[in-house]
Amino acid sequence: MTPRNEWIPALLCWYETAKRDLPWRRTGDPYAVWISEIMLQQTRVEAVIAYYRRFLKAFPTIQALADAPQETVLKAWEGLGYYSRARNMHKAAKMICDSYGGVFPGSYAELRKLPGIGGYTAGAIASIAFGKPVPAVDGNVKRVASRLFGIRENVNRPAVIRVIRGALTGAIPDGQAALFNQALMELGATVCIPHTPHCETCPLAGYCDAYAAGDADSLPVIDRKKPPREVSVAVCLITHHNAVLVFKRRERLLQGLYVFGLAEDITDTAGAQNHLAERGLKTRFIADLGNARHVFTHRVWNMTIYRFELLKSPGAAFLRENDALLVEKKQLKALPLPVAMKAAKEAALKIL
Ligand code: SF4
Repeated sequence: MTPRNEWIPALLCWYETAKRDLPWRRTGDPYAVWISEIMLQQTRVEAVIAYYRRFLKAFPTIQALADAPQETVLKAWEGLGYYSRARNMHKAAKMICDSYGGVFPGSYAELRKLPGIGGYTAGAIASIAFGKPVPAVDGNVKRVASRLFGIRENVNRPAVIRVIRGALTGAIPDGQAALFNQALMELGATVCIPHTPHCETCPLAGYCDAYAAGDADSLPVIDRKKPPREVSVAVCLITHHNAVLVFKRRERLLQGLYVFGLAEDITDTAGAQNHLAERGLKTRFIADLGNARHVFTHRVWNMTIYRFELLKSPGAAFLRENDALLVEKKQLKALPLPVAMKAAKEAALKIL
């Protein structure tokens, strides 16, 4: 081993004593590893634990997930956000059952072909569940690598990612890919954190380029992201007796989930009522129920919640053409609704 690679045993040794006891670390089952890795994207570990346990209980095998209706899968995902992750998992489960006889493929290249499995997730599954010597490079690992190796270029550029992947691939010790990748992820999550890394307690301080140079807190170099677009959204609770209309989203954002009547770029009651009339719904305005805000990756919804009462029942043709349902309280509770609808759902449950 070259002196340059002395950091590897230091990292593995540290991981053995410092690692958090997380439920997905007690298994090498690729299905369970996959679920945890998908859930952990964009979501905090503490929030994932309960979802992970519930999800595995609801869908204990890949076949059970593949056989479930999409709505049931989305309901189990409710609250985790980024619902395309759940839709893609469902699609991938079906593909694994149809094309691989329900057995998870173990190679990085085959994993990459599955919906929702990018380079990081393929690397994580291939190494953790199958022991393949491939790196798993996510935001945490890019940050550690950029500081450790002194990479002062934009870590989201494909050429720079290739450099990081190459350096880490060469560093994976024989037969210890799972341990190595998990140790790097853990270091990035708990010690080599964004902005203010805990270098004083880091097992790699003696090998770290950024620590020696004193610029760890300004690494990694990343593109400044555009701020998300602010959008006004009228959220219409369209009630009829003791039921409310909900619509299954066809748009890419929140696709497959149920929402109330939504109208973007509308900021007043009259505009919302006109919008409903244009969709063929004659209504009477009842009340303004307050505001809510939800931040997505690329947009922010600034919502005003209105209640309208239908003047006549929507016909079966309207419901069919609009993927709409007129639901009572119990059905509303059972449907998958996104977190963005939380305030409106609470208001609807009080009304119904
Ligand atoms: S010494 Fe500091 S910057 Fe370097 S790897 Fe450790 S925590 Fe990160």
